[in-house]
Amino acid sequence: MGHAYFYRCEHCGFEQSFNEGHGFLIHSQPVKAYLSQKKKLFHYKTHNLLKQLASKNNNLYLKAGFQVYKCPKCKVLHDKIEVVVFDDEKIIHKSSFRCNKCKTRLKLTNIHRLKNAICPSCHHKTFRRVTSAQQLWS
Ligand SMILES: [Zn+2]
Ligand SMILES: [Zn+2]
Repeated sequence: MGHAYFYRCEHCGFEQSFNEGHGFLIHSQPVKAYLSQKKKLFHYKTHNLLKQLASKNNNLYLKAGFQVYKCPKCKVLHDKIEVVVFDDEKIIHKSSFRCNKCKTRLKLTNIHRLKNAICPSCHHKTFRRVTSAQQLWS
């Protein structure tokens, strides 16, 4: 179960939705179980890293879900699939992302509290949340 947050720019009319939470396919599971699926859900680099980690350790667990990030420089929002790999309680890998424009490392943001953001299209500070809806992913 996850949330979709819809934003619309009052200046140029640009619309975008952001996902946050865990979907049906993107959930906590042993790394081995993920690798035995045919479907590659993550970025190929993440996929290869998981393979590499699993070859050395049998008991890894992963948690994945959509998170909303913000570029500290451009202030533009991005939703990404964050993957965290655990060895018992210890985190041994966590996704990190860079802004596709300025290459600054993106920061996790609390979208629940974020009502206004910068429009990715016209860069005015008029990107407002319209509504948030519960959504089931399949
Ligand atoms: Zn940026
Ligand atoms: Zn705009």
